[in-house]
Amino acid sequence: MFLTISATGTTGKPATDLGFLLHKHPGKAQRFSTSHGTAHVFYPEATAERCTAALLLEVDPVALVRRGQGKGRGGAPDAALAQYVNDRPYAASSLLAVALSAVFRTALKGVCAARPELPGRPLPLRVEIPALPARGGAELVHRLFGPLGWESVRTEPVALDERFPEWGDSRYVRLVLEGELKLDDALRQLYVLLPVLDDAKHYWIAPDEVDKLLRAGDGWLAGHPEHALITARYLARHKRLTQNALERLELARLAEADGSEVEELDNAVDESRDTEDRPVPLAVRRRDAILAALRDAGAARVLDLGCGQGQLLQALLKDASFTEVVGVDVSMRALGTAAKRLRLERMGERQSSRVRLLQGSLAYTDKRLAGYDAAVLSEVIEHLDLPRLPALEYAVFGAARPRTVLVTTPNVEYNVRWESLPAGRVRHRDHRFEWTREEFRTWAGQVAERYGYGVAHLPVGDDDPEVGPPTQMAVFTRATGTETTGTTETTGTTRTPKEGEAA
Ligand code: SAH
Repeated sequence: MFLTISATGTTGKPATDLGFLLHKHPGKAQRFSTSHGTAHVFYPEATAERCTAALLLEVDPVALVRRGQGKGRGGAPDAALAQYVNDRPYAASSLLAVALSAVFRTALKGVCAARPELPGRPLPLRVEIPALPARGGAELVHRLFGPLGWESVRTEPVALDERFPEWGDSRYVRLVLEGELKLDDALRQLYVLLPVLDDAKHYWIAPDEVDKLLRAGDGWLAGHPEHALITARYLARHKRLTQNALERLELARLAEADGSEVEELDNAVDESRDTEDRPVPLAVRRRDAILAALRDAGAARVLDLGCGQGQLLQALLKDASFTEVVGVDVSMRALGTAAKRLRLERMGERQSSRVRLLQGSLAYTDKRLAGYDAAVLSEVIEHLDLPRLPALEYAVFGAARPRTVLVTTPNVEYNVRWESLPAGRVRHRDHRFEWTREEFRTWAGQVAERYGYGVAHLPVGDDDPEVGPPTQMAVFTRATGTETTGTTETTGTTRTPKEGEAA
């Protein structure tokens, strides 16, 4: 199994920078032992003009068979010979992808300590794979690599046997990709698409494959026209995992369309209403209200569910009474921004032991979320389709079950006060719904009752006498003695806000 990556140099940017990016010195040939054989990395050429790194994986077919992984899809027990005589050692397949991630792990992450400016730069790259197994043929290869920013995607059929042209082509193609891409983007594409084209994943598909796929697919998979095929094949057509991944991609797509819009609108409104001194943006008032409610509840270990770009996490970390702070979001991009905002990489050990960022969908129960004092869902529920909401309710109130849950959501009645908002429009294009105060109270009351919580409602922002406050907040408190799940019998209480009750 063989793959080469070449870079062309330009003035002031020698091609040998590739060696820095790959963390492999061009002057050395190196060997790495991987779970399936020995990987070799060497540079057939390394000049300022052109530098080529080669990755060769020498697969140990006997070891593969012993591990029960040489059969490919559905190998029959009587196909004993096929176990030893198969294409695994020669074709660029999922094994090569695994070797790629093992040998070039740091490069895949787009990190280069020696030359931090390098990974951010697109390079004139050329990737060549002489024997790429392609179930679906050259046509599929083009459909997969075509939309990914390469200037040229070339495939040549590989004959089954050159001595007998009448036998036709094998299922292999020679692939050459050329274009200006960032190296980590190119590597992450290969990491996903080699096994997808091979379509015979050699290892057991574990649930964390979804995370691996989404990590490697960050920035290109969600918007890829073939994302459904890529996802299904990568996960070996495992139904539940594929569905989970597709859903998370869908959410990631929506979250990417997200961003500053909400806050801009929030800021705009408050500015028009509060002209004296410096106006306090609604987003800030919301955060202050959340912090106050968390302190009231005496919470020390806090989950920020749907943490977005981490503004609340940052505020939580400034207060030492919050001893552990965990941000969860479905969007890798949002988490990346949050990590930067918090300066996670430069944080001292003591600080960094207080904070964690997790990727995950709130529509699935997640063991990592159990045992916290409080969970915040700030402007998150309205991003879920209504039919998905019960899944989130179960995951948060039924499974994670913190003592306190804070939920904020827009009050749709207030929308008439937003001058920049056309009548009948929601505040953000990704909002699936926006509720009146009555609708929110009804929902909160039902959730509280089903899961054994009491609930109080608080306004956030100026409480307009006619239409109420711009943001509404529900504070759920778990009834004592109902720490575990399955408390569907317990009755919650709903407290309606008293007139003039402040946030
Ligand atoms: N809590 C932040 C961000 C709100 S925007 C704030 O108050 O400003 C909504 C966030 O929820 C986005 O970051 C989006 O990626 C995330 N989100 C939406 N659906 C989700 C889901 N099912 N699981 C996890 N996060 C989700």
